Amino acid sequence: MTQWIRVLVRISPQSPLLFGTHQVGNFQETADHIPGSSLRGAVAERLLAQCMTHNQLTDHADCPDRATCPFWHLFGEAEPRFGDAYPGPLGPVWPLPLTARTCKRYPGWQSGSLKEAHGLRDALFVDFAYGLISDPQFSHRAQLQPDLGESWSSAWRPELRADHDWCQFQRSSGQSCAQPMSPANGFYAHDGAAFLPAKSFRRMRTTHVGINRARSVAQDELLFTQEALTVTRQATAFFAEIDVLAEQKAALLEALLGTHYLGRGRSRGYGQVVIATETGAPLPPLDDRLFDFQLTAVAALTPYQAIDARVQTTLPGQLFSLTLRTSAILQQGGQPLRVPTPEQAGLPAGTLLLRAWARTEQVGGWNSAAGLPRRTQVATRAGSVFLYFAPDGIVDRSQLIKALTCLETTGIGDERARGYGRVTCCAPFHVLQSGY
Ligand SMILES: [Zn+2]
Repeated sequence: MTQWIRVLVRISPQSPLLFGTHQVGNFQETADHIPGSSLRGAVAERLLAQCMTHNQLTDHADCPDRATCPFWHLFGEAEPRFGDAYPGPLGPVWPLPLTARTCKRYPGWQSGSLKEAHGLRDALFVDFAYGLISDPQFSHRAQLQPDLGESWSSAWRPELRADHDWCQFQRSSGQSCAQPMSPANGFYAHDGAAFLPAKSFRRMRTTHVGINRARSVAQDELLFTQEALTVTRQATAFFAEIDVLAEQKAALLEALLGTHYLGRGRSRGYGQVVIATETGAPLPPLDDRLFDFQLTAVAALTPYQAIDARVQTTLPGQLFSLTLRTSAILQQGGQPLRVPTPEQAGLPAGTLLLRAWARTEQVGGWNSAAGLPRRTQVATRAGSVFLYFAPDGIVDRSQLIKALTCLETTGIGDERARGYGRVTCCAPFHVLQSGY
């Protein structure tokens, strides 16, 4: 049986980095992370170069001996899946989920920041409990709360979610901050014991002047500004996880480790990185995560039960989430889709979609092999969260565990080898309710 192994790598920039093809007028923006497709491209380029020297080929498709070719060994039938590389103090690193909230006036983690920051909270459970009790039309409410059915409950009280809507930070004056909470952006790491803030790289902007060769003067249309990520004291490395078949691991590392040039602007010396393997703390076992997730749901519903006795805190099935670690390209019948249906996500029949916190974005990229930009597509943004429910007696638990384990290795949607569609089931970040 083929076995997939997860490899964690540290990517240390040696020069400014520029990723993505996003351009507004004469201003070229960089992405804040290294796309998995850039790592994949670097490995493929190195192997192709080796192969061409070896075979003296110009067209790789004509490789006479696929069995011994290093390129086809790695990019043959089952190729490695390269995740996006995110900045962090240590690996692994995740993007903050769309359910993360922070103070609008003083955003950021309470620890690890020199400036005043009022901390982060995750609103998944508070949104779920509030929606389930306050909205008679909440998806599948009758199955989750049989006694409430589709009737009104007097138990919905905005004050029960006040600490997720208004900043509760205690100022030195003794009063709480009371500013509205807004979505939080950025990344986080986990060292096995606690969640840590991850600093983004600083963006440097340089303006270049193009010279009109005929007239030897600066030309208006050739004036352009380019952004690049630069090394600072806070942010020093990116971390990526790559899933590879056990028998391909050695070949992958041989092609991946060492110095590479990633992204754009290489002619100006941009993009130099050093890639090395790294060890990181794994997530808790899936069983533990499912258990903690269910327990947090009970805690979120308990205050409502105290007001309306019809509210049940124990749910007749397993509640679980899928949080996108990288953007996902989801489609149905050729149309882009924002939220995957349970069938599309490969979940057992009978699983119900309850809620989603999801946003879409345009994704593109650069095809280095062809030297052309890729066609842009609509993708569901990294950090999007989908909440599902597997009713007891309909979905078999062992089947559910099997499906979720498979999802965490294989992901969802299209273009998974290029880093799209990575998911985390019941991410522990959602569970801690006291904030970060
Ligand atoms: Zn505040």
